[in-house]
Amino acid sequence: MDISTEEPGGDILVVDDDATSRIWARVWLQKGGFSVREAATAQEALAAMASCPPDLILLDVMLPDMDGFELTRRVRSDPNLATVPIVLLTVLSDPGSKVRGLEAGAYEFLSKPLSSSELLARVRMLLRLKRNQEVLQAEQNRTALLYQVSRDLNTELDLDRVLSGILRATVAAVGASRGSIILLDEQRRILRHIFLYQDQVAKVRREVQEQVVRQGLAGWVLEHGVGVIVPDVLEDPRWVALTTSGYVTRSALVVPLIYREQMVGVLTLAHEEVNRFTQSDLDLVMAIASQSAAALVNARLFQEVKEERARLEAILSSTDNAIIAVDHEGRVALLNPAAARAFGVSARQAVGQMLDQAIPHSGLVQSWRRASASGATEPAELTLADGRVLFCTFSPVLASGEGGGGWVMVMQDITHLKQLDRLKSEFVSTVSHDLRTPLATIHGFGEVLVKSLDGENRECAQQICVQARQMSRLVEELLDLAKIEAGVESVRVSCSLADLIAEAVTAARFQADTAGVMLQADVAACLPPVAGNPVRLRQALDNLIGNALKYTPPGGQVTVRAWARGEQVLVTVQDSGPGIPRENLPRLFEKFYRVPGQEGRSAGTGLGLAIVKAVIEQHGGQVWVESELGQGSTFGFSLPIPNEACGGS
Ligand code: ADP
Repeated sequence: MDISTEEPGGDILVVDDDATSRIWARVWLQKGGFSVREAATAQEALAAMASCPPDLILLDVMLPDMDGFELTRRVRSDPNLATVPIVLLTVLSDPGSKVRGLEAGAYEFLSKPLSSSELLARVRMLLRLKRNQEVLQAEQNRTALLYQVSRDLNTELDLDRVLSGILRATVAAVGASRGSIILLDEQRRILRHIFLYQDQVAKVRREVQEQVVRQGLAGWVLEHGVGVIVPDVLEDPRWVALTTSGYVTRSALVVPLIYREQMVGVLTLAHEEVNRFTQSDLDLVMAIASQSAAALVNARLFQEVKEERARLEAILSSTDNAIIAVDHEGRVALLNPAAARAFGVSARQAVGQMLDQAIPHSGLVQSWRRASASGATEPAELTLADGRVLFCTFSPVLASGEGGGGWVMVMQDITHLKQLDRLKSEFVSTVSHDLRTPLATIHGFGEVLVKSLDGENRECAQQICVQARQMSRLVEELLDLAKIEAGVESVRVSCSLADLIAEAVTAARFQADTAGVMLQADVAACLPPVAGNPVRLRQALDNLIGNALKYTPPGGQVTVRAWARGEQVLVTVQDSGPGIPRENLPRLFEKFYRVPGQEGRSAGTGLGLAIVKAVIEQHGGQVWVESELGQGSTFGFSLPIPNEACGGS
């Protein structure tokens, strides 16, 4: 704001029916640096004011056609003249007349005769007051405009409405005839362009927009980070005309939109006359631009979040996997249509409720509770009311800040795999019995042949024996599996897993040395015993350690770990082998399943892990695997600690 202390000049209208008084006033006022117009009647005065409002009126009270008080009232009621100072000049000096004059709207009441120096001093003082009043008024208008713009925009989240709101406000504030905003991303690529002409949004070709940002004034403003006034665009090589538009532009005003020191866009205002914009227009537009940049960024982020959400919703709705997300308290935050179908609930009712109230499935709730209490992410198999089986994985959502975090449960329907598994079991138990006897016979006669033949024939007979042994192993494993799954082995004794691990590691030492793999055990001290069948538990350990050694290349490492957590003992076998593709993990513990492409790595039956699973589940535990391709694998199982041995480390 610039309050004036300078001596103001100005246009003074002297209204007096007495010619001598008019001449006296004109002479002194002109000497004082003012220009003077004269009127002898009220009508003449009104006509002079209508053609051009004066800066001040010197008015005689006694006029032939209307008294000065009435003329003062008329001037005050005209919006174009309302702020013009009026000095009443009269021979009347009684206080009543003064009061009437001031009440009618005069600024001063001077009594004739008057000295020329007093006249000039009064006029100058009133003109200074008027100018300062105008400056204050302009400042007030500007503050009101800024307040209105920020109030209108800061509650608006629709990007198009924010853009056109900023344009409308700035175009109107400086009397431009059109304007445009180019919105940019962090890499200064054009996100959006809006061009407003006579309150209508018009289209500008993409190439032109890009040219403006690359070579035009917008580019210059972006590079220098300051606003600029162009008095005549024809004389400024930086101006890129919107060639196809047909609009004439002669002057322009361009400002950057900056939010937290980052350029988010450029605002351009234009006019068809030269020299239209002033420094105070530039200041005002800069102020509006800085107020509205935050609204613009908010609206842009909101738009991005909205689009992202719509994309996510489309993905979540189209997948067959059931997905449920809960927040850190266990309230359902998201439930996709597949999950709603699987558990027979409605997403609208479930969201916001605690998981145990929202989902009528105790298995899911218990598995989630276990996962969230211990942070462990072992998957679980859930059987639904209609018999379908879901393979459920739990992933923690890591988020900082209060209220962040939670869990996501993804459930894949593995019913058909389960059915396949059952069919395989039935097939196995019938077929393996029928295979054992003939295999033993083939092996027996093969041995006889090996002994009685020589040369090539003997080698053929040896092959018969090798193959028969391999088949017998397969049949033995199948029978083992069938027995374990049938639960016919009721042996349950207190077993020290620490001892079983030590024995298994010692037994595998030769295989590890031959394979050039470092094998080590890391077992917590005072590991509580578990109740079980030591032969089968040892078989499970042998299979996991055997696999790890089989698939880990020379120079690698295999570590067996065991520790107690809560009411469970956890055992893991970690290797530095090739890892397993994520999509194969759910099928790994199936019978005969071998990871595609890995079959050639070593001989195997595809039953080892199925046996591990069957043994552990028979003992009331769970198996899992975590693996990343190229990062090795960790197979693990948990076993419950019998009540009397509970403790944990
Ligand atoms: P196999 O007799 O084929 O080893 P398993 O049931 O023991 O049968 O294992 C099934 C499949 O799992 C294997 O064929 C192999 O593809 C994969 N696998 C098991 N353990 C590992 C491991 N430690 N690293 C990489 N792949 C493994």
